[in-house]
Amino acid sequence: MDGDTRPARSGVLDFDPSLIERYGGSGPRYTSYPTADRFHAGFTAVDYARELAKRNHRPATEPLSLYVHLPFCSSLCFYCACNKVITRNRGRSTKYVEYLGREIRLVRERIDLAPRAAQLHWGGGTPTFLPRDEMAELMRMLRAAFELEADASISIEVDPRTADAGTIAFLGDLGFNRISVGIQDFDPEVQRAVNRMQTEEETRRVIDAARANGFRSVNADLIYGLPRQTVRGFAQTLERVVDLAPGRIALYSYAHVPHLFKPQRKIDVGELPPPAEKLAILTLAIERLAAAGYQYIGMDHFAKPDDELARAQREGRLYRDFQGYSVSPGGDLVAFGTSAIGRIGDAYVQNAKSIDDYYAKIDQGSLPTVRGIALTADDRLRRAVIQALMCNFTIDRAAFDAAWSIRFADYFADELRELEPLAADGLVDIGADAITVTPRGRLLVRAVAMRFDRHWMQAQQHATHSKII
Ligand code: SF4
Repeated sequence: MDGDTRPARSGVLDFDPSLIERYGGSGPRYTSYPTADRFHAGFTAVDYARELAKRNHRPATEPLSLYVHLPFCSSLCFYCACNKVITRNRGRSTKYVEYLGREIRLVRERIDLAPRAAQLHWGGGTPTFLPRDEMAELMRMLRAAFELEADASISIEVDPRTADAGTIAFLGDLGFNRISVGIQDFDPEVQRAVNRMQTEEETRRVIDAARANGFRSVNADLIYGLPRQTVRGFAQTLERVVDLAPGRIALYSYAHVPHLFKPQRKIDVGELPPPAEKLAILTLAIERLAAAGYQYIGMDHFAKPDDELARAQREGRLYRDFQGYSVSPGGDLVAFGTSAIGRIGDAYVQNAKSIDDYYAKIDQGSLPTVRGIALTADDRLRRAVIQALMCNFTIDRAAFDAAWSIRFADYFADELRELEPLAADGLVDIGADAITVTPRGRLLVRAVAMRFDRHWMQAQQHATHSKII
């Protein structure tokens, strides 16, 4: 990683609901910087191919990370903001897996150096929508193209409604060693409102099977702010989740933006919890998870102290990537499938979102890239600053000066001024040696990070300017 990674004390969170109200609005999650809305169509498959070629000339390369996007789901969850295809036709994935194979070959023939991979993740959509023979074929193609290291992290998103204990044992045989399980909320009222009926029993069967089959870690996803959600109902969900004892928990805030995500139009706005109730649910969740021994990692993530993520944070080895947080720097990320985002050298690349466009590109013999961005030196510096904040909650100013040949105070003079109100509210300490997010500010770390996001800052200035005139 570029720049500074000095670790801060992990797991310490001083929660202040009034600050959440003031600074907790929507904002980027910084799984990349610049954020994906800055990618543009001027970055094409030719640029991606050039980045892959450049990689071949680098003196030493980290092992790769690999991501595969599997977009099919058999039913629609109304809160969904993912790139997916809803279908009951199980045959639809056959052609998709064939095209993934073609894309893997198109990429692989452009990499002649170190096709080792330390991480592989299957996301979606619902990866377990695929029948077993297709999952096996996809894994075979990936292993034929890339050398997965013996201790590689191999993870998959599992929907307990489409997977049973047998599926999990099968995934273990394929080499998967981590699962991420979507729960969201066990309250049947909430489940009905979002069209995702999933019992605690089927969820427990999947988690138990993962443990029985030697999976290294289990992550559970929860969402607060869903329709018909109440403090009382979510308290029960939390008890059941704590009892399931996943090593990691992601607690996402539901953002209702139906103009961006069509499925959300099916949600009755009148059933969404009012802001005060939503905040009370978050307060409850943070307190309950802390009482159950979970440490706060950052953004929406919690982990048991003995989980690899919590250990990595204590040791300053935490990284931010498209799956959230990671314990591996991961080197370049090669991503396959519709809408998948990769990171090669100093560029981000994204594939076609629609399945037809994806097929059409590959039929033309082209990489299915439709947009991306080549990072400037300024982007790379800001990415390192944001990464240090998101993972370690601190920026060592001298380390940045040395690593980037800048004077932090001069280079980021505007940003430091923008941080002053946050410092006055106790979210961040602006010291001569370091800028440190306080325990009060940790839940709002992205509000701090946004002040170093040049694109966000420019948009703010533009909005302020427009309002004034
Ligand atoms: S939330 Fe997941 S399972 Fe539900 S529709 Fe979206 S991608 Fe599919």
